[in-house]
Amino acid sequence: MRRITVLGATGSIGDSTLDVIKRHPERYAVHALTAHRQVDKLAALCREFRPAHAVMGTAEAAAALQALLRADGIKTEVGYGEAALEAVATDAAVDAVMAAIVGAAGLRPSLAAARAGKRVLLANKEALVMSGRIFMDAVREHGATLLPIDSEHNAIFQCLPADDPRYRAGVAKVVLTASGGPFRTRDPDSLHDITPDEACAHPNWVMGRKISVDSATMMNKGLEVIEAHWLFGAPAERIEVLIHPQSIVHSMVSYADGSVLAQLGNPDMRTPIAYGMAYPERIDAGVSPLNLATAGALSFETPDLVRFPCLGLAFDALRAGGLAPAVLNAANEVAVEAFLQGRIRFTDIARVVAGVLERAPGGNADTLEAVLSADQDARRRAGELLENRSSC
Ligand code: NDP
Ligand code: MG
Repeated sequence: MRRITVLGATGSIGDSTLDVIKRHPERYAVHALTAHRQVDKLAALCREFRPAHAVMGTAEAAAALQALLRADGIKTEVGYGEAALEAVATDAAVDAVMAAIVGAAGLRPSLAAARAGKRVLLANKEALVMSGRIFMDAVREHGATLLPIDSEHNAIFQCLPADDPRYRAGVAKVVLTASGGPFRTRDPDSLHDITPDEACAHPNWVMGRKISVDSATMMNKGLEVIEAHWLFGAPAERIEVLIHPQSIVHSMVSYADGSVLAQLGNPDMRTPIAYGMAYPERIDAGVSPLNLATAGALSFETPDLVRFPCLGLAFDALRAGGLAPAVLNAANEVAVEAFLQGRIRFTDIARVVAGVLERAPGGNADTLEAVLSADQDARRRAGELLENRSSC
């Protein structure tokens, strides 16, 4: 029986993870569930899964959850804040941690799970974008098992040969596919009028609001390029992005001898989640089998960097290296939040990120302190650009 902590249990990845867990009660038990604000939803999940621990974002939210659970006679221990998140990610009783908090907030607990040598199921791509070197070093040094949950990286992981460097030498490129989001064919001149609800209406996936906006700007693919760099040791020039609107081919690996291996499936996050949970075995994920005879034509095209400037900015940050990816990520989080609150236009997101990235500090991303300080600095500068929108 494997005991799992689900960080970000009330989110979209949390939902899919708990659905897979439910299908295999003989294999998996829930050790801890965490949320930020959604007290009622976490209470319902605690009633269903009876975890030993639950964690909320604040003392007030934790007290509210505690009261609901006590009223039902549920003995789940309730905590709050960063220390409690790290505790449930590192507890000796835990085998695997699903890292599915959104944004930079997921960095510390995800890294703590790696440092505790856990099986880390990494959905929180922002953690790797911010601190790829630190994260990958922690995985190696502490004997953690890192399994990518992002569907593209999970696909690449499935298409790569074993860790033996002799075989890795034959890899020519990793190819990340992207749906192109809801605005792939929309007139670029009309992009400034887009509403948050339109941006969050993804054609193929149902996801949290932040990643949905990132998919619409293609910053999501940009973050994934940086994520692929760290996970697979690929330099920018060996990472290609291809738009594939049907989201059936989840990504590919191209080899020196001309072979291309791809992983296919219906677009459903339960596939990569189940793969990560059971690896190296395979288990039922509740996903309907892919029927290629009825799926229709599969098409591929090169992304237009004028329509999707965020993708180009992410490649720039990867090439610049050091703290630039952490700066890119922080500026993007601030800009996306402002867009979701109706404070800036959709097209301002790339302008804010570019403006902050232009003045990114030099320096290495070798310590968590340096990364977190660059993150805070970039948030402050993004905030200034937002206040003075005439400058962005
Ligand atoms: P959601 O917004 O649906 O869920 C986010 C989760 O994180 C919720 O449980 C939320 O709690 C919690 N949370 C939010 N802010 C904080 C915080 N400051 N501290 C602690 N917990 C917090 O996001 P998704 O599930 O869509 O995405 C989660 C991660 O997985 C992201 O990094 C995303 O990029 C990645 N991912 C998601 C995919 C998807 O299909 N959804 C695909 C690939 C990667 P509460 O509900 O209480 O606010
Ligand atoms: Mg993805």
